[in-house]
Amino acid sequence: MLLRILLLLGVFALGVLGAEDFYKLLGVKKDASERELKKAYRSLSKKFHPDKNPGDESAHEKFVAVAEAYEVLIDEESRRVYDQYGHEGIKQHKQGGSPRQHHDPFDLFSRFFGGSGHFGHSGGQRQGPNMELRVAIPLRDFYNGRVTEFEVEKQAICSACEGTGSEDGHVETCDACGGRGARIQRQQLAPGLFQQMQVQCDKCNGKGKTIAHPCPVCGGSRVVREPEKHELHIEKGMPLGVRITYENEADESPDWVAGDLIVHLAETDPQYGQQDHERTDGTFFRRRGKDLFWREVLSLREAWMGDWTRNITHLDGHIVQLSRKRGEVVQPNQIEIIADEGMPVWHQELENNAGEVYGSLHVEYVVVLPDQMEKGMEKDFWGVWEKYRKKSGKLLDDEWGRPKEPIVMPSADDHDEL
Ligand SMILES: [Zn+2]
Ligand SMILES: [Zn+2]
Repeated sequence: MLLRILLLLGVFALGVLGAEDFYKLLGVKKDASERELKKAYRSLSKKFHPDKNPGDESAHEKFVAVAEAYEVLIDEESRRVYDQYGHEGIKQHKQGGSPRQHHDPFDLFSRFFGGSGHFGHSGGQRQGPNMELRVAIPLRDFYNGRVTEFEVEKQAICSACEGTGSEDGHVETCDACGGRGARIQRQQLAPGLFQQMQVQCDKCNGKGKTIAHPCPVCGGSRVVREPEKHELHIEKGMPLGVRITYENEADESPDWVAGDLIVHLAETDPQYGQQDHERTDGTFFRRRGKDLFWREVLSLREAWMGDWTRNITHLDGHIVQLSRKRGEVVQPNQIEIIADEGMPVWHQELENNAGEVYGSLHVEYVVVLPDQMEKGMEKDFWGVWEKYRKKSGKLLDDEWGRPKEPIVMPSADDHDEL
């Protein structure tokens, strides 16, 4: 009896599992757009692909379920049926025979990533070339962290013909070469002397297949060039040159599994933006590793006499205050190191950099002397200088013992006696 209950429970659990909501399965909202569905399928099908989870039955089941959910939701008609009647409705709809349902999850996968639906490291499947891309972002985003987007143009499998190159889906074996893509040509070089050459079949251009009605979108080439958007997660303090890999997002082709798209993070030249938060002093900080560098200009009076305050706006808008009291001198090119006002230190293991550690902000003081003065002011200053020069001034040349006349070098002819 107990066993029967357990069995029943098991069946019940399976039933629930099998009927997981398609939207939930793909992690999208009820009103998800075509683009969102495709994006969800792209990332989930890679994650659960059996080649990446060898021996993991539940991953395999997920892979199949994700494909089914995608195919139901991407088709307007079956999505309507699903929204109204749920899984039961879809079952009946499928029995009615819907031409766009593919049933083979590997086939669907290959329409997204090329090849035969498997990854390069299993089954001898060839992987296409990787694509490298440099994406430049402002220093502000490295400091604050940000989720942004970038667009890349790539070769994609034509979705109109699903990579067949044929408008009606029919692809015939080339009758000129029998599908080999090449023919043997016999050429007479001299009487009785022949050469046999293998040449590419000109009827099918070496493909071995012909298409009676080429796809109007890709012209039969099976691929198109199109822009694709990717999300870019910039974590606080990420270093320059860090490589972010988007698996299987490089150029696609039915002949191979798409390679990886590799993004190198670079920094844009600093410039003021339109919005307030893009107009902070921090925009012009220079970064070296975890430290930031800044030049602050002081007047002669400030550098010498003190009594000044400066508010530097940092990359996230907070203020770093610099100041000196009266009598505190700052030497030209003096560097003040302010702890914890540099870059956040990037740590891959920390979720969004919890428990942040920061580098330092190095402020270099530049002192600017006035090159013009009011006449009266000049006279006053001169008077003060003269007064103190007469009283306690020293000639530094004399202090340092410098000669009054040039020093004559010994001539090249003079040898030292050995
Ligand atoms: Zn041929
Ligand atoms: Zn096409």
